[in-house]
Amino acid sequence: MLKPGLMMDRPLLISGLLEHSAAQNATQEVVSRETHGPTVRLSIAQIARRARQLANALRGLGLQPGDAVASIAWNNHRHLEAYYAVSGSGMVMHTCNPRLHPEQLVYILNHAEDRVVLFDSTFAPLVQAIADKCPHVKAWVCLSDAEHLPAAGGAVKPLAYEDLIAHQPDTFDWPEFDEKTGAVLCYTSGTTGNPKGVLYSHRAIVLNATTACLPDVLGLSTRESVLPVVPMFHINAWCIPYAAMVAGARIVLPGPRLDGASLYELMESEKVTISAGVPTIWMGLLQHVEQGGLRFSTMRLTAVGGSAMPRALIEKFNDVYGVEVRHGWGMTETAAIATLSNLSAADWEKPAEERHALVARQGKVVSGIEIKVVDEMGTTLPRDGTSQGELMVRGQWIVERYYKAERTALVDGWFPTGDIATIAPDGVMTIRDRTKDVIKSGGEWISSIDLENAAAGHPAVAQAAVIGIKHPKWDERPLLLLVRKPGAALEKDEILGFLAERVAKWWVPEDVVFLDALPVGGTGKVQKNELRKRYGGVFSGA
Ligand code: ADP
Repeated sequence: MLKPGLMMDRPLLISGLLEHSAAQNATQEVVSRETHGPTVRLSIAQIARRARQLANALRGLGLQPGDAVASIAWNNHRHLEAYYAVSGSGMVMHTCNPRLHPEQLVYILNHAEDRVVLFDSTFAPLVQAIADKCPHVKAWVCLSDAEHLPAAGGAVKPLAYEDLIAHQPDTFDWPEFDEKTGAVLCYTSGTTGNPKGVLYSHRAIVLNATTACLPDVLGLSTRESVLPVVPMFHINAWCIPYAAMVAGARIVLPGPRLDGASLYELMESEKVTISAGVPTIWMGLLQHVEQGGLRFSTMRLTAVGGSAMPRALIEKFNDVYGVEVRHGWGMTETAAIATLSNLSAADWEKPAEERHALVARQGKVVSGIEIKVVDEMGTTLPRDGTSQGELMVRGQWIVERYYKAERTALVDGWFPTGDIATIAPDGVMTIRDRTKDVIKSGGEWISSIDLENAAAGHPAVAQAAVIGIKHPKWDERPLLLLVRKPGAALEKDEILGFLAERVAKWWVPEDVVFLDALPVGGTGKVQKNELRKRYGGVFSGA
């Protein structure tokens, strides 16, 4: 039968991104901070050559397509090379969060059946502590040269990455295979139970990376220098290491030092224009900049997500420092950014107050993703900006089932996110809470995120968290936990008065606890489960 005619069928593969960039943007720079201090500069052509050398080395170790290779590493150029070498040769790049509890780390290394572990010297003690519990691993490779290998001692004798790749050919025939093959494995943080693996396909990553470059998403191009502060061990640094290759952008990798002073110095010295990270990172940066009376000379855009970005911070970045904030929502299960608040030309005409309020919401879906909110019965709720229910998502880079799970994670073809949200008629989504953080007072919902946002607006507040505490009459009431800015004075009555002017009366927290710091988890989020353990049962008021 005569075929009607169609386009050729070329698979979407990660190796293609690297080879494209190596050919088109050979001299573009990758700037990378080494763990032991210095800054290294490599061209994309060099990165590609080194990735091919690593692919040869892994093959030399006997690894086959389908095998898993783990990384326990910071954002640096060797990690980037591994991203391409491992997935490009048909193996699975398993990025591990080093801040997981060691037992959970052992669990995921065994669950993924990792054959090789690439680790940063920072994590040498961790590796020595867990190595004998990981029977599948045949080689432990330190992402360094021989000179910077961690001091000898312990059961594991690591290989130095530079020695491993040194005599390998810098050519490699990347295999061609089905674009639906697994490329990268990332586990959820496992705050309840064991972490669950999400296996991203080549197709999902290439589509996502391409979308991430769009002007209304991250706006990457050959003219931009992008600094992903968001870790490469969690959700692929929101796919920036891939997107930057699609766009030919200059990549600046920060290594282990993510404090405000180090980031500011890197942004200025490397003329960074675009960055991405979680709100806690930007709080640290802003504090440093404010204390030193500093300005940003090249930074113009930052993408923020992972938890809600307080409006007060959006305001400061925009109005005081001229850095545009784009506020995104996503999760391990959505590979990267699924929704993003971005302002249209008409929005930019609006008064600053209105603009900031828009950015404080989590925004519209990017092309390729669909969302809806449903009630407890699974009925779709109207997009009216007030009906709140569980956020459901589907799209080209959304999980179907967890790694090695027998059953689908979907409900009627949609992934239930565990987040409570509203969607406005114009499509803008607002996260109100996570189902497990929801506070139900007298049968009505109080949004912990809205309360935190309001509290963060007080000039003396460095960080705020709100949890539900048990209450004999109302079932639950909000408790506010606050960290004051250094040197600032703030007492309970003042902050409660401040909130009473900004939220409904019955939302005003029952009590306030002042802390030196909030417990923050491996992905930069406040650990509310920890706070609930410590303070959730206590209601000391009348
Ligand atoms: P973990 O579940 O380990 O924290 P994820 O990074 O996958 O890891 O977390 C995803 C969750 O983070 C989302 O389900 C949502 O609750 C929260 N989140 C992500 N981005 C935002 C945001 N912009 N505002 C509020 N919450 C967010």
